[in-house]
Amino acid sequence: MSTTTTEAPRQTGIAWTPLIWIGTFHVLALLAFFPQFFTWKALAACVVMHWVTGGLGITLAYHRLLTHRSFQFRYKWMEYFFTALGCAASEGGAVGWVADHRRHHAHSDEEDDVHSPNRGFGWAHMFWWMTPDITSIHTADYYEKWAPDLNRDPVHVWLDKYHYIFPLASLGLMYALGGLPWLVWGGFVRTVTVLHTTWLVNSATHVWGYRTHETRDKSTNLWWVALLTFGEGWHNNHHAFQTSARHGIRWWEVDMTWMTIWTMEKLGLAHSIKRPKLTHAAPVKSGSAAAVLAASRVKSRTDDETELVGSTN
Ligand SMILES: [Zn+2]
Ligand SMILES: [Zn+2]
Repeated sequence: MSTTTTEAPRQTGIAWTPLIWIGTFHVLALLAFFPQFFTWKALAACVVMHWVTGGLGITLAYHRLLTHRSFQFRYKWMEYFFTALGCAASEGGAVGWVADHRRHHAHSDEEDDVHSPNRGFGWAHMFWWMTPDITSIHTADYYEKWAPDLNRDPVHVWLDKYHYIFPLASLGLMYALGGLPWLVWGGFVRTVTVLHTTWLVNSATHVWGYRTHETRDKSTNLWWVALLTFGEGWHNNHHAFQTSARHGIRWWEVDMTWMTIWTMEKLGLAHSIKRPKLTHAAPVKSGSAAAVLAASRVKSRTDDETELVGSTN
């Protein structure tokens, strides 16, 4: 779609509600500097909740399941349950998140991208949601244009509308289980770390790192973002194979979310899993396991993807 160039300001002003919500978490996370709130169990709660809300909720559910439909759960209730875990990350409801992210893929590093670093690293990281473009407001039309599948599912609509219940519930859970130390570390600190690591996928992995595939955007693969986001840092691979459930392709590109989906498949909890179609990939180093497997042993799996048989899991 075309974008008319006018002299009207693109930004709508400050998005106060998310700014106050997220800003409050940042202030409360500073309590971590007071030693009386530190325990090793509280730190463990932070790490586990980082994985539960950021890894299972955002990466596995919001991104690979809902945005790209790279696999399906065996039971529909599992889709809603994991979506609720994503809601607990304070990144908004899934319908809006998915809409923004699909638009990112449709216009990566173009003018209509929601968060391209072409407008600065800070914009790509967090300013984009603080002062959103007028074209990025989450209206009914925006939802219907970019996420019609979710927008017509009453459970997803409900979860999106009342998403704020889940971060509050996660705070209550942390306090109930471990008192103030767990609330500070498993609640406040964890929320801040999940937010920034998610945002790094939009900022850092469109700026730093290496490019395996010649995609039409500036996406990169960056190992430390991949570690912090359970595999999302293999972002150039992802832009090359957007519907693939597997983002880490070379054997050393560790992708915890892919391992989780793979395990779920073995347990009979996930199916219709889409693999990278490496036969169409641009420069995968010849002689690599991936290139060899792609050239020799592939079979048809789903509509538009191909499975690597005996891949380098
Ligand atoms: Zn994506
Ligand atoms: Zn991207």
